[in-house]
Order: sequence, then C-alpha cells, then structure tokens
Amino acid sequence: MTSDLMEKVVSLCKRRGFVYPGSEIYGGLANTWDYGPLGVELKNNIRDFWWKTFIHGREEMFGIDGSIISHPRVWEASGHVENFKEPLVECKSCHKRFKAENATSNKCPECKGELTEEKMFNGLFKTFLGATEDSSSIAYLRPETAQAIFINYKNILDSFHPKLPFGIGQIGRSFRNEVTAGNFIFRDLEFDQMEIEYFIDPQSDWQKYFDQWQEEMKKWLVAVTGAPEAKISIREHGDKERSHYSKKTVDIEYEYPFGKKEVWGLAYRTDFDLAQHQKFSGVNLQYRTEDGRDFIPHVIEPSFGMPRTLLITLLEAYKEEDKRVVLKLNPKLSPYKVAVFPLLANKPELVKVARQIFDMLRPELRTAWDDRGNIGKRYLSQDEIGTPWCITVDFQTLEDNTVTVRDRDITKQERVGIDKLIEYFQNKMK
Ligand code: ATP
Repeated sequence: MTSDLMEKVVSLCKRRGFVYPGSEIYGGLANTWDYGPLGVELKNNIRDFWWKTFIHGREEMFGIDGSIISHPRVWEASGHVENFKEPLVECKSCHKRFKAENATSNKCPECKGELTEEKMFNGLFKTFLGATEDSSSIAYLRPETAQAIFINYKNILDSFHPKLPFGIGQIGRSFRNEVTAGNFIFRDLEFDQMEIEYFIDPQSDWQKYFDQWQEEMKKWLVAVTGAPEAKISIREHGDKERSHYSKKTVDIEYEYPFGKKEVWGLAYRTDFDLAQHQKFSGVNLQYRTEDGRDFIPHVIEPSFGMPRTLLITLLEAYKEEDKRVVLKLNPKLSPYKVAVFPLLANKPELVKVARQIFDMLRPELRTAWDDRGNIGKRYLSQDEIGTPWCITVDFQTLEDNTVTVRDRDITKQERVGIDKLIEYFQNKMK
C-alpha cells in the first residue's frame, strides 16, 4: 500500500475537506495549500497539543505571538539577508528555477532547455512598507518564527524575571520562497512553525540540554502522529550543511513514502542571535545571575513544522480494512469527536431527539450531524475522516432514553443513556 499511500491521502484530503490545492480555480499555485474545514480542525488540535505539552506542561516556558513583519535590521542582524540563500540553476527557455543539487545535467528537467550556471538565490520574501518602493522601505516576511523570540527575550526578562534555563515558544506563520515542488504539503511557501528558544547558562552542559530536547522531540513525534519509533531517525548535519548560526544541528527524520526526510530540526545556536541583536540594536541583552555574573545566554532551538507533522499524522492514520477506509487518528486530534444520526431521517420523533443530543454535545465536544443515506454509509463516511464515535437514535431511544454508540476502531456498538453521554466521552478522551 505504501507507494500509492501518498496519492490516497492527497485524494482523501481534497475529497473530504482537509487540504485543497492553493488557487485551484486559477490552475493552482505551486507549493501553496489551503486547509479546509476538517484540515483546520486537525491543525488546531495538533497546535493545541503542542502548546499544552511544551508551554503549559513545563514550568519554565513562556508563550508569545510575535508579528510576522519586523524591523528589516532584524534580518540583517540574524544573517538571513546575507546567508538565507541556496544555489539554484535557471532554465534559459522556461525560466523555471531548480535547486542546483537536483540538476543532474545542464538540461531543464521540464522543457529540456539549457540551464544557467549556479546562482545564489535568496529565499526571503521581500515586501515594501508604506508608500514608496525603495530600499529604505524594504521589509521581509519572516522565514522563521525564532527571531520574534530573540527580539522579545528582553521583554520577557523585564516582565517575568525568569531563572535560567527557561524557554520561550511560539506558533506562527513563516514564509520561504521555495522552488522545489511536489510531495504535497511537505514543502510550502508559507507554513506554521512551532518553535522554542531554550536559554541556558553558557557555563552549563549544553549537550545535556540538547540530548534532552532530542528525546522530547522524538517522544512527541510518536505521541502526536502515532508513528512507530522504527520509522524515526536522527541525522546530524555536517560542517557544510549546518546553518551559519549553529554549532550542532540534527534533523529528526521520518520514513515518508517518498523517502527518509526531515520532519523537524534541533539546533544549538549558541549566543549567535542575541549577540548579533545586541550589536545591531545597541541594547544590552545580557542576563544577570543572582550572584552577579553578566553574560549572553546560549540557546538550544527545537523547531517543529506543522505541515510535516500533519502529513505524517494522516499517513500513519490512514488504513484500509474490511472494505472501508478509516483514519485511525488519536481522538484528541480528530476533527469531530462524535457524529449524531437519527436512524431514519423521515421520522420526526427520531430527528427531534437526535437534534437535542446534537445540541447538548456541541458545546462540549466537536460534533457532526448526518442524516443522509443509511446508517452503514454514514459510519463509512465518518470512518474516513477519523470520527471516533457515532451515536444513533433509534426506536428504543424513545422508550428508554438510551442510544447506540459505535466505536470507529472496533466497529462495535454499545447502548449508553443519553444523560451519561458527556461523561462517557470525557472518560474516553482521557
Ligand atoms: P529543509 O531542509 O527540508 O528545507 P530546513 O532545514 O530548511 O528544511 P528548518 O529551517 O530547520 O528547515 O525549519 C524548521 C522546520 O520547519 C523544518 O524541520 C520543517 O518541519 C519546517 N519547514 C521548513 N521549511 C518548510 C517548508 N518550506 N514547508 C513546510 N515546512 C517547512
């Protein structure tokens, strides 16, 4: 099943409203995707799970939500204006650009035209602030959320006086002018990142914190996506590959149907960013310990990308069994937790009770309504989008106030009292 697994997941995503190709009615725009009603729920559930685990779940963490556009000097200080470049070749006929490392000959892979020599191409999206389009008004859409953390580090010190080690995390949109297309949402022009800068005393054992974060990331990847550990591996960057700011970087990799590739990155950025911002802004960004030592803290950076997390979650959840397609999502992540059906849509007495249950559950749990087709078809439809439980109101309900609850994974039903439903699902969700 694996070779066409991607195609099946992509097709399900489009058909059922998880992810649509961007600007589709205009023929599409490469590397852009729109999240539909179910995709946005799944994404928000992953986001909340991350926030609960890493921000609420740890005493020494602070959350922020920084702006996408920041002062252009931020990107000069961080080195992105200078270094966020990669070697590309361009086709002289169709003018498409390709990563130099992917060009195996001097012919264009698409139109067979002649390719140019390698040129360095900056991946930053540029824009202009205000009314004039000159170099004094250039701004950049952020290529990573990290810098918003560095430029707010002093605000956090001043408002919260944290002791080292402490971390600042945020979730937000990043933008990169990527040229390689394909593999669905794996590589996008804009995507959500979930990043942490973990500030440590430079005299402390950075390798210990690095190893701890590596373990935390692996553990969370298994928890959120359900991926088996055997499909997850760690790859350390060599000297040439490592970013300009990093002393050690590892990629957390996963065995995708299209090969083993990066899911997330973990980097030891030393004091590079804060030292640069101190230099460029002229503001003192030193940390003072209780015993009066002044220094710029070092950082370990766990960087999580949303699209790859969501893609792996779908790939791992997708199952074909007993003539059904089922997304075996962790119920915490499922777009809908429960679906409610009247056994027959043309029996007002059943519809009335089913609507009452639907209205009762909705404020507590994301709940779907379906009264189309027969019950079997409705189960199949909910299985395909990963709804863990389906409630049917039948004629027995009118006699004893119980309904059937059908479990997505074991496909068995049990009868539950209407007044016990909320408690029943809350227990299941634990
Ligand atoms: P790659 O080597 O695949 O281009 P990267 O090493 O440039 O990725 P980082 O700068 O380490 O990526 O970014 C941290 C995380 O953000 C990545 O591990 C990935 O999950 C995500 N990410 C980066 N670029 C993209 C993109 N264009 N589309 C989707 N997610 C991305």
